[in-house]
Formats: sequence, C-alpha cells, structure tokens
Amino acid sequence: MKHAPVLIANRGEIATRVARTCRALGFPVVGIYSEVDQFAEHLRYCDQSYCVGPASPKESYLNVERVIEVARKSGAKYVHPGYGFLSERPHFVEACEKAGLIFVGPSAESMRLMGDKIQARATVDRLKVPRVPGSAGAVKNAEEAKHFAREIGYPILLKATAGGGGKGMRRVDSEVEMISAFEGASREALGAFGDGSMYVEKLILEPHHVEIQVFGDGKGDAIHLGERECSIQRRHQKVWEESPAPILEKFQKTREAMYEAAVRVAKSVKYASAGTFEFIVDGQGNFYFLEMNTRLQVEHPVTEWVTGVDLVEWQLLLAAGKFALPKTPERRGNAIEVRLYAEDPHNFLPAPGPLGAIQMPQGAFVRADSAFTDAGEVSLHYDPMIAKISVWGGTREQAIDRLRVALDETRVQPPRRADGTAQGSLRTNLSFLKRLVRNGTVRGGNTTTDLIARHPELTQNSSVTSNPSAADSLTWEAAVGVCLAQFLRDSSPQDRSTKNDSSHGVRFASPWVLTARREGVRE
Ligand code: ADP
Repeated sequence: MKHAPVLIANRGEIATRVARTCRALGFPVVGIYSEVDQFAEHLRYCDQSYCVGPASPKESYLNVERVIEVARKSGAKYVHPGYGFLSERPHFVEACEKAGLIFVGPSAESMRLMGDKIQARATVDRLKVPRVPGSAGAVKNAEEAKHFAREIGYPILLKATAGGGGKGMRRVDSEVEMISAFEGASREALGAFGDGSMYVEKLILEPHHVEIQVFGDGKGDAIHLGERECSIQRRHQKVWEESPAPILEKFQKTREAMYEAAVRVAKSVKYASAGTFEFIVDGQGNFYFLEMNTRLQVEHPVTEWVTGVDLVEWQLLLAAGKFALPKTPERRGNAIEVRLYAEDPHNFLPAPGPLGAIQMPQGAFVRADSAFTDAGEVSLHYDPMIAKISVWGGTREQAIDRLRVALDETRVQPPRRADGTAQGSLRTNLSFLKRLVRNGTVRGGNTTTDLIARHPELTQNSSVTSNPSAADSLTWEAAVGVCLAQFLRDSSPQDRSTKNDSSHGVRFASPWVLTARREGVRE
C-alpha cells in the first residue's frame, strides 16, 4: 500500500529503525541531517534528505522552524520524532499541527500532562497511583529541601525538575550535606537544561527500575504491552534492559497493579501512541511512579521481541487512521538488550571519535540496531550510543547465553595507521558488557540499580580479552587464525605487500586480521 511520506526528525540508529518500518509499510521516507552528518548511515534509508543546519543540535535537529520547513518542502505528511531531540516538546507538536502535518505520537496536551515531571506527579496523585514520597513540586531553595527531607527522612534524592538522562541528581544522606548538594545539582541542571529548579524525593534503597509499555488510541482507550526491567544502570542511565522483569517474578500482584495503574493513567489523559510509565520497585514489592516518557523508548526492541509487535508500525498506522487497538498481546520468552556506547569502560565517560570498522552480531534470535554498518564517526556533538544489541530466548538463561555469544561476535575498531596502530580517541564499553553478561549476580537476576557499584570487578582496569575465559579466547584465536589463513591464501605475495600500504588506498581483506590481537586494549 502507498502512503504519504514520513519525515523522520532524528538521526542515528533510531532514524534507521523507523525508516525500515516506514519502507516496509510503503511510507516514503524523508531524512534530515546536520552539516557533520552528511554521510550518516540513516540517510541510506531515506528517499530524500535535507540538511537542517550546523552540527550543534540547537541549530539543526532541535531547530523547529527548519524541520517544519523541510517537511513542507519535501511533501511529507507525517513527522516521526524518534526519541530525544524534539520527541517530547509539546510546542513542536503544535508547530506540526499548525503546518498541517501529523505528529506521530501523543497530543501536545497529554504530553504536557504527563511529559513534564512535576505536572505528571500531580496527575498521578489525582489518580491515586503511588509515587515516591517527596515534594509535590519544585522547592525554592536548600532550606525548603531540608524541610521536606526532615519530613520524609534521609537519605533523599535531589532531582532536577527538567531532568533527563540522570543529570542534576544528588543523593543527600544528612542535613549538613544539603546546601552544597543543592547548589551542585542545581548548577548541573542549569547547565544541562537551562533550568536549575529541583525537587526532593525519598531515596529508595536497593531499587529496581521497572517500566510499563503502553499504547493508547488517543480516544480514551489504552493497553499495556508488559514490562521491562532496566535496573542495570551507570550514572543513573540504563545499559541493560530486559523483559519480563526478574524482580516481578516473585511479585505477581505488584506486576498486575502496575499494569492497571499505567493503563488507567494512559486512558485518563487520552494518550495516543507508544508511551512508557517508569516506576521504582523495592525489595518488598512496593512500587512508586517515577515519570512517564511520552515517546518511543530506546529499549523498545525488548518489548517487540516478547510481544511480536512492531511498535513503530502501530505508531504509523495510528497516525494514518488505520489502526484499531487490539487486546494486550501474549508475551513469550525473555528478551535482553544492551547498549553499546562510545565510552570509557572503566569510568563511563563518553569517548567518541572516528570509527574504522564495525561488525554486528548475527544469528538466530539476535537483533542489532546499529548507527553504523561500516566506517564512520561517533560524533562528539550527539549521544555516543553506537548500537543496541538484543536477543530473545525461551528462558532468561537462554537469552543470556545468546547475548554472550552475540557480544563475543561484536567488533568495533578505531581506524588504523599503516603500521596497524590505532588512530583517534574512540573507546567502547564492549569489554564491560562482556563482563556484565558473565556476571553471576546478573545471571541470578537480582539486578538492583546499584549493581555496577557493588561489583567493582566489572569496571576494573583489565580487559576481558587480556584475561579471557576459555570460551572467549578460543573463539578469538580461532577467528584470527581463519582470517589470517584466508588472507594469505587469497592474496599473491605482491598483493600482500601493497595491501599493507595505506598510501595505495587498498583495503585489507578483513579489517580484523592485522588488528585482532590489539582489540580489547582500547575497548
Ligand atoms: P531521569 O529523568 O534523569 O532519567 P529518573 O527520575 O527517570 O531520572 O531516574 C533515573 C534513575 O535514577 C532511576 O532509574 C533510578 O535508578 C534512579 N532514581 C530516581 N529516583 C530515585 C529514587 N527516588 N530512589 C532511588 N533511585 C532513584
């Protein structure tokens, strides 16, 4: 079937992911890019693409006027925002409507009611959904924060009202720490969001992060599509997401109550499209609302694995007026996703840079949502996520085993000089992910949000490949051996000498051959 074009107001893996479903359904795709993204991978999936400005997101991917102008010029009818950038900005939704475009997502009104953290707390209070105890809205200053902290008891968490990505968050254990913590967190929030206002929440100890995927028809009906547990986090940011949630296996009543609460709120705000209710669950099975994300979530593939639903397909069909909300789909088996980032695997600081070559895992029940298929650049201007790797298994153990193999197959390499040494600043968290998938506590399923802090061996300064498990080293040595043998067989002696000389611009038979033994050192 032929539809009108969809403009994808995003970049990276999510732009590619949305484009694939558009193409499958017969929606032509309009892409946008900034000046530094003119060769970006996502543009390969677009029928037309337009530059929207310089590298700085403010001037390009966040430039509402420019994005709308491109939509008009290209003949697009729909705008899919992906996640991040303009995806949760009600004024963008309104700008689309004003320009006669259909925003693929919720209405500006329900975005305001649920997307704004403080407003959302008021909405769920009204609907009697439990939330973390704390101030109803922003506190004026450290003194007022102290007042709330005394009421709910220490430790507390100071959080930025404009927060996102775990920024502007500080744990405070006693009153003497409050003033400096408040000032520090507020300064960080002001820098990150242009808004330094803070609110106070009780710190839930050894918490689990569990979220409910919902889908609404915009007319007052909504369903849930099960949960995801995203407790394994660094710097309050998710790195491993799975469904079903291990913590809920022993709290079936909690699970049902969370589904019911999420659907009730979604219905009451006439929520349209995909959305996620985030909760904290404690060790006793109590749950507390944290926030709602009024968009498609990074970790949505986990839900797609266990439900068999293409969430982007549902979003597009709803926007096109061709969707009838079904019953909650059955969920089958276990899915896990990990996020491969360009970051230091020891302190998790971003480490973007040029990418020489990449190899994503393949095989049964493995999915790779990657921003790259070959050489490129992990830009310092944007989120340093390289790819999401997800797997499905009939049981959690099977999913973990498949993920282990998938991660062992994954390769990310910086460019190499002619002498084989690495060039540029790119590092990845691949070695960290390989340790995580082998960790006993992770396998056991007791994944509280402080797991990484409780397991310093996950971030210690020795790489998996320099201290490999038997299986790891076997695969590795075998792969190197096969590649090398193949290379020697396939090339004449003369070839071999020229292939080693980058000044001839000749590509190696396999980028892994000469660099294999060094991998792991800079992961
Ligand atoms: P952001 O919007 O910045 O991502 P969230 O409110 O979603 O912030 O919280 C991010 C993470 O921080 C949660 O997943 C959880 O791990 C931790 N967190 C947030 N609030 C609390 C709390 N009250 N107690 C314990 N941990 C919390």
